[in-house]
Amino acid sequence: MLRFLRTRLQQGVRTGAFPGGAVELPDRFRGRPRLNASKCAQCERCAASGVSGLLTVTEQGRPLLDVGECRFAPEETAACPQGALRFTREHAMASRTREGLRSETGDVQLATALAQRTRKLFGRSLRLRSVSAGSCNGCEGELIVLGTVAYDMARFGIEFVASPRHADGILVTGAVSVNMREALMQTWAATADPRLVIAAGVCAIDGGAFRGSPEVSDGVPAELPVDLWIPGCPPHPLTLLDGLLRLLGRIESGEARPR
Ligand code: SF4
Repeated sequence: MLRFLRTRLQQGVRTGAFPGGAVELPDRFRGRPRLNASKCAQCERCAASGVSGLLTVTEQGRPLLDVGECRFAPEETAACPQGALRFTREHAMASRTREGLRSETGDVQLATALAQRTRKLFGRSLRLRSVSAGSCNGCEGELIVLGTVAYDMARFGIEFVASPRHADGILVTGAVSVNMREALMQTWAATADPRLVIAAGVCAIDGGAFRGSPEVSDGVPAELPVDLWIPGCPPHPLTLLDGLLRLLGRIESGEARPR
């Protein structure tokens, strides 16, 4: 027992400083994409590269960067001969609206807090039922990391629960396969009002690599009102936690402290 306690003391605090301080990210981290519109020749090589619909050209002839469609793959930036497209080190990119993920440069309308009345009803906690609706399990891997000592989301009162009856909302991953669609709808129906819908990962946002397949619904079905869109493939734990805390009004208001 004493040896155990000594080891724990030697290990010290392993939980990251976020959101109170900076978190060291590995060199390979690829954050929110950014477009230098003045360098973009609108040559459509991005679309031709076939990696995603990340960058398109509007009817007005302006580039449109959709962070929701980004797969954070090196091929996406490598396709641009001008070097106009690059990944930043910015982890914050969750938005309350799908439109908020689209812009000319990669700027995102970062998530705003839920209405005060809803937050009051939820109290100081947020319980979510995770629904893996055809995911490759990459997103689930990152959700599990949120519960580890490194991120410890429980210190903010955020937890995953086994039953939708105990949940304040659902967090959906995967492109929503035909076989999972009914289960997803039933899970949502079993969650009490007011309830949240969170789409995490490019698959849940718009189908990702499976988009257009008759076997998927191209992400969260339109019948479900999504409250938070979290880009990534998979989303980094920091991106997930940042989005959830913004939704709870605990970053915007400077209250990003444990319970
Ligand atoms: S977004 Fe990426 S990691 Fe998540 S389910 Fe889709 S392919 Fe897998």
